[in-house]
Amino acid sequence: MSTRALITSALPYITGDIHIGHLVEHVQTNVYVRFRRMIGDEIAYLCADDVHGTGTMITARKQGVSEADLIARLGKAHVEDLAAFDVVFDRYGSTDVAANREVVYGIWRNLRAAGHVAEREVTQLFDPEAGCFLADRFVKGTCPVCGATDQYGDSCDRCSATYAPTDLKDARSTLTGAIPELRTAKHYFVKLEELRPVIEAWVDGQGHLHPDTARWVRNTFLVAGQPLREWDVSRPAPYFGFEIPDAPGNYFYVWLDAPCGYLATAIDWCAANGSDLATWWPRQDQPGSTQAQPETAQPGTAQPEIHHFIGKDIVYFHTLFWPATLHAGGWRLPSRVHVHGFLTVNGEKMSKSKGTFVNARTYLDAGLDPAHLRYFLASKLNGTADDFDLSLAEFEAKVNSDVVGKVVNLASRTARFVPTLVAAYPDDGGLFAAGAQAGADIARDYAATDFASAIRRIMALADRANEYVERAAPWALKKDPARAAELAQVCTVALNLFRQLAVYLAPVLPRLADQAGQLLGAPITRWDDAQRPVTGNPIGPFGRLTDRVDPAKLAKMIELSLPKEAPAPAAPAAAAPASTPAAAPAEPVAATIAYDDFAKIDLRVARIVTAEEVPKAKKILKLTCDLGSLGQRTIFAGIKAGYPEPAKLANRLIVVCANLAPRQMSFGLSEGMALAAGGTQPQELFLLAPDAGAQPGQRVM
Ligand SMILES: [Zn+2]
Repeated sequence: MSTRALITSALPYITGDIHIGHLVEHVQTNVYVRFRRMIGDEIAYLCADDVHGTGTMITARKQGVSEADLIARLGKAHVEDLAAFDVVFDRYGSTDVAANREVVYGIWRNLRAAGHVAEREVTQLFDPEAGCFLADRFVKGTCPVCGATDQYGDSCDRCSATYAPTDLKDARSTLTGAIPELRTAKHYFVKLEELRPVIEAWVDGQGHLHPDTARWVRNTFLVAGQPLREWDVSRPAPYFGFEIPDAPGNYFYVWLDAPCGYLATAIDWCAANGSDLATWWPRQDQPGSTQAQPETAQPGTAQPEIHHFIGKDIVYFHTLFWPATLHAGGWRLPSRVHVHGFLTVNGEKMSKSKGTFVNARTYLDAGLDPAHLRYFLASKLNGTADDFDLSLAEFEAKVNSDVVGKVVNLASRTARFVPTLVAAYPDDGGLFAAGAQAGADIARDYAATDFASAIRRIMALADRANEYVERAAPWALKKDPARAAELAQVCTVALNLFRQLAVYLAPVLPRLADQAGQLLGAPITRWDDAQRPVTGNPIGPFGRLTDRVDPAKLAKMIELSLPKEAPAPAAPAAAAPASTPAAAPAEPVAATIAYDDFAKIDLRVARIVTAEEVPKAKKILKLTCDLGSLGQRTIFAGIKAGYPEPAKLANRLIVVCANLAPRQMSFGLSEGMALAAGGTQPQELFLLAPDAGAQPGQRVM
């Protein structure tokens, strides 16, 4: 009998784009889902957008649209971005749906009835111009501890002090710049300490958390003798959220209703599919009781599993509030909360200014293969909450060596030599049988979300398969017509070993598995497809399975991720001008390119008609340029630091790249790039100029 499991990823916040940090979690969840389906389990794979809170309200206001329109547009983009990485849900919902309101109201009624709610006055900063209370990150001012300016309302970047926003000096609202006022309003609190037995029983429960995470939660939040702090679950109007039914003018705080979105999405999915919710997310017997419920199944009934995948930054919400909330509502608590660590890029925190804060869409726009990122992330995810690094050099080397060199190569070196697989599987020295036997260990790794270990085992099998092909040398057999039968046998073995690897990699690389299935005329759908070789089938046409990672595309991904307000003025020239007193620091020369690559760049002489400052842009000048027969172009160039008096640039001849894709910046469309040499200091900028006599529009070669 198959097991039912409801599996979720954390709900992305609606106003942000899906980025590679989200992809860590969504790929992790998706690999697990695909594996569970391959072993025959029945899976409901659900997610939703987290849409409530001040962030949505402010963004909608800034864009002059309704919250509903904003949610519809951005939600669609989330679904499309994830689908491009083969992350496709059974249902992708939203936390503002009617089902979620019902869930939240039910939980609230029970919390009230059980006496778990306290009411208290709270004094908070209020923006009198925007007419709303300010969350900590909407207040900036001077750190009360070290005096650093421009610090957020909850903590200081410079001295790491944490404080209340009311302690901040010279506080300003980041929404309007207004000086915040102190205002007092009634807030509603959940008395979490009263639900402590439920929380502790769940945290200590068998398999609910990785043992390291359970220990951390115990030692950090559930310290003996320290009562749990009451949880503020309300916000006064204006707030975008569900209004509290028995406290008009107050709204549920986004973190109360966000996780409820898991349940609401399950409810809507069941309704749409005619499934019985009780067989996916059952109720427990005694809502409101503070006693932990036994989780043992009734004899003869299989309990459905509930799995959440989250990042370690939201452990607090998912291991304290969420079990308490579910219990209050009378719902089954999760079977497992899987916690992953943070992704760093090239050894550092993802950074917008370094171009390493990469959106999913940008990765695709750079022309990179989504399968490669899936593979790399899976090879790093080991089921613990440890951070891990996406080094771009390692990414390139690993994908090229493993996916292309070890797996795809098996097929590309044998698929075109013979038209059909031989009828009886040949003696391969026990290779296929050993691979079949390894399936149990690999499955155990996937089930434990130790994908890194699964990949290591699969690559060990791939190494043995490649040794076989090297020894058998089908390319040599091909040259000798007398050895045609032997060639067919070798190809049959190699292609079956390739297919076996594709089965084991199918949770990570579903498209490769589809292609391998088509190649051998035997679709890959189940885990035990790796147990029996395919024989006698005609070999299908061999298409391109995947390409090597192109480092130029990785560079493009970083370039596209750089902030648009501060474009690099140009590729800095290697040689420093003679007048520079200090020698320019050595900068390694970029990778060699072919002449054809260079010829793609259309450089032209241009005459600056006007050069002007751009309001609010610290580094940018707006250049209106005459390109002769190509007409006039507007170019936003990051050269202001080197040219503090832009009017003096008028009539100068410069060199521009004329065929660079136009780039939309916040202040307008830039239609080219002005070439300049740059040094280490911001003001060291030198526009390139042709000798006298050059005409606007002439090509530079
Ligand atoms: Zn400070």
